[in-house]
Amino acid sequence: MNANIAGFLRASTQRHPDAVCIIAGGREYTWGEIDRAADDFAAGLVQRGLHAGDRVAMLLGNCVEFVIAYYGAARAGLVSVPMNPAYTSAEVAVLLADSGSRLLLVQPETRQVGEDSAAALPGCEVVEIGSDEWDRIMATGQGAVLAEVMTPPEALALLLFTAGTSGRPKGAMLSHGALRSNVEMLLALTEPPAVVDEDIVLIVLPMFHVYGLNTALGLAVAAGATIVISDRFDPKDALDLIAARRVTTIAGAPAMYQAWCATPGVREAMATVRLLSSGGAPLPSRVFEQFEQVSGLRIYEGYGMTETGPVISTTLVSGEPKAGSVGQPLPGLEVRILDEDGGEVDEGDPGELWVRGPSVFAGYWPDGAGGPDGEGWFHSGDVAYRDEGGDLHLVDRRREVILVNGFNVYPREIEIVIDDLPDVAEAAVVGVPDDETGEAVTALVVPRRGATVTAEQVAEHCATRLARFKCPTVIRVVEALPHSATGKIAKGRLRDVYGDSGYGS
Ligand code: AMP
Repeated sequence: MNANIAGFLRASTQRHPDAVCIIAGGREYTWGEIDRAADDFAAGLVQRGLHAGDRVAMLLGNCVEFVIAYYGAARAGLVSVPMNPAYTSAEVAVLLADSGSRLLLVQPETRQVGEDSAAALPGCEVVEIGSDEWDRIMATGQGAVLAEVMTPPEALALLLFTAGTSGRPKGAMLSHGALRSNVEMLLALTEPPAVVDEDIVLIVLPMFHVYGLNTALGLAVAAGATIVISDRFDPKDALDLIAARRVTTIAGAPAMYQAWCATPGVREAMATVRLLSSGGAPLPSRVFEQFEQVSGLRIYEGYGMTETGPVISTTLVSGEPKAGSVGQPLPGLEVRILDEDGGEVDEGDPGELWVRGPSVFAGYWPDGAGGPDGEGWFHSGDVAYRDEGGDLHLVDRRREVILVNGFNVYPREIEIVIDDLPDVAEAAVVGVPDDETGEAVTALVVPRRGATVTAEQVAEHCATRLARFKCPTVIRVVEALPHSATGKIAKGRLRDVYGDSGYGS
């Protein structure tokens, strides 16, 4: 079997070549047009001298050319390296050099950064989408015939740089087989189905991230659904687009749902929506509940990682959305929860989540270091527990755990308590070195716009809800916190923002 992920595009095209595949920038593109453009791009790059396994980097927002380039590169056996278009040239330069990319695709907004970052790399050409050079690649491709290559499942399709929320970015190597299997496992869910042919899917999540790329785009392409692409999330504009295009499913992130809770007209705008999902960062129970009140719709929450293609679990498996839970593992994946010594935890106790199955990555670029262990288990670094119903709950990242006098304090547990204060927009809890206790629990708290919150209020509230050793000893009210692309609080960057000599009080 040919495992190439571009086979999904071909198969859906053959089913309905003249149906609308993509709606972007006010234009509609049929499946036949997108499939042909991907063919042209693939053949054009081969004509240009790129060989199977070469890397093609992309510094692009969500646009139709992203889709064409991603599937075209895959079809030619090339490896896509999507990057966040908000990166600086210093950041892009590191990733280009590390990945050894031969081509960098940019858009007008990212052209300068792209050129600056590629300047010191003679082997890397910069091409702007829609430019004369882009047109030349497509025209040469049109005149050429691309021999279909048989792609084995282990062939590399995607190199996604991920730093989690701290540390130096590492390129997670995802094969065609890994990406394909994650899509197939999601397609196999039927009650309710994650996506069907008749769906109209909104993709506003960034496609340079694995969630937007494989779970939103890849899944929609495989199902043959119509894809509405938007490049920027504005709660009101998104609602207008949903209503105008009669969107039926939305892959979202917690920050989107939180913003919609405060936007009028959600219920009316979402009249055609049948399924909403959230992932990438924890969806606060309060947002789940408020969103149900304003829209009448419940959100299916999923959990995944770049390294696992990405989905590990989702409430779509049981078909029952449940506030605070990330559901059950996808059928086809195995999950274990283990203690520090690698033994099974008692039922209901938290431990590190390990995962094994076909969508797990092949380790980090270039040598596969840090991948699954000898028996195929990937140690996620996430702490989770299973409730009586068998549903998973994420507690925290293992490395974020704070040790106070030797006791484990999970920052997330404290953040949830602080988030419960009505005037709090969000909170981040971290450990800072402490002479007496080893580490001290420190909370950074952002008030809602127009509201005030004092450190005393937070301290009192925590004291009524948490054991004493878990209560923050330093509380600082701040204006904002740094975030990652999917809305996770970037804890590694907190020190840059608030100084590394402790956080003050
Ligand atoms: P990334 O590789 O950027 O997708 O980040 C993966 C990490 O995001 C996971 O290891 C989790 O720590 C976190 N994450 C993903 N989904 C969820 C979720 N639904 N709830 C809480 N954390 C999540």
